[in-house]
Amino acid sequence: MTHLFHVPHADDETLSLGVAILQCLDRGEEVHLILITDGSACGSFHFLNGTEKCPIHHRFHDPVSEGYQTAPLTREAHIAARQREFLAAGEMLGVPRENLHVHTMIDGSLTVEEARAIALQYEQDASIPGPKVHHTMTERHDNHNDHKSCGRALAELLEEGQISACHWYVKRSLWHTVPADAPVQDLVASVSQADILRSITRDVYQRWEPENGHYAVGYHSVPESFDAMMDDCRNKVHHTP
Ligand SMILES: [Zn+2]
Ligand SMILES: [Zn+2]
Repeated sequence: MTHLFHVPHADDETLSLGVAILQCLDRGEEVHLILITDGSACGSFHFLNGTEKCPIHHRFHDPVSEGYQTAPLTREAHIAARQREFLAAGEMLGVPRENLHVHTMIDGSLTVEEARAIALQYEQDASIPGPKVHHTMTERHDNHNDHKSCGRALAELLEEGQISACHWYVKRSLWHTVPADAPVQDLVASVSQADILRSITRDVYQRWEPENGHYAVGYHSVPESFDAMMDDCRNKVHHTP
């Protein structure tokens, strides 16, 4: 059994899919993480470049005097920093480096067609053993275009019989929008799984070493979600689209 996790943005794998990923790995099953977008729409760019006041450090950053590896931070360096966070998180989850895949679709404008093409690429890749189970964000109760495109793409492929199994996860920040009677299942982290997710938060997404190219992009982007996960490491999953 191989599990293919379609991750729209760096941080979704930790914040909303992390328990599911760790459960698959703990069962000894093969896991691949597929980062879909380049993360270029992330609002943290302005905080990190000092054009908006940083809500984490409560000041206007100055990339030059703070010794950023790239000063001012370019779009390319920001994208690369986000990708490094994804790769570091994937490795801390325990996914082998060769199973971490990085695509660079434009953040915020992912189409269903693009998400379908990527899913089929991995479904049809004979070097990845089957049967294959796909996982991604749900389009139900989500407000983000890229999450909705990923969720819809896999729902269509399942309906068409082009993939045989899929699970859809609720974005952490939108849990409160899930109706009480919705058929959503909680995945509860074990103590060791929760430790891993908290370590990733601290050591990857909160890592502030700008001189070495570690800008805590994830935490500058969605601090509330990381703070919430430190207290509650569950995932919420739908087994039907
Ligand atoms: Zn996302
Ligand atoms: Zn900051």
